[in-house]
Order: sequence, then C-alpha cells, then structure tokens
Amino acid sequence: MERSIEDVWMATGLCRNLPPSTFFPSDGSGVEVARKICFNCPVQTQCLEYALTNRIDHGVWGGCSERERRRILKRRGTAVPASV
Ligand code: SF4
Repeated sequence: MERSIEDVWMATGLCRNLPPSTFFPSDGSGVEVARKICFNCPVQTQCLEYALTNRIDHGVWGGCSERERRRILKRRGTAVPASV
C-alpha cells in the first residue's frame, strides 16, 4: 500500500508515542505542555501547515493552539468566517 505524504511526516512526529489527549488539552497549562513537545518536533512545520490547510479547529498542531492558528489564517487572509 502506498503511503501518503501525511503518513510519512505523522510517523516521525514526537507525538506518535504519546496519548492523543496530550494534544487536545482542556486548559492553558495543557496547551503549554503540548507546545513544548511540538517545538522540539522535527516535523513541526509540516504539522502546522497540515492543520492550517485542513482547517483543523481543535487541538495543538505544530506548536500552535486553535486561537493561534485562527490568527495565522486571518493574517494570511484565508480565514473562514465563523458561522452565525
Ligand atoms: S508538531 Fe506536535 S502535534 Fe505536530 S507532529 Fe510534532 S509533536 Fe505531533
């Protein structure tokens, strides 16, 4: 079976052997724990771009929280308007 490009970088992320809940924290201190792991991850850039491209709303991806990703998308002019 052929592996997608996402499979390749996801397989090398530092989170691969950690509980997924680490990257879906419920408070700010949990976000900081996840961010510290991400900042040492060799695929941080790919991970963040994946989350931005796919408009992933929840969790810490590439060292960025949901709020930070929304800011990045807004700066890039690619933000999706919030539904009313
Ligand atoms: S940047 Fe963080 S969430 Fe992304 S692959 Fe690395 S450790 Fe996992």
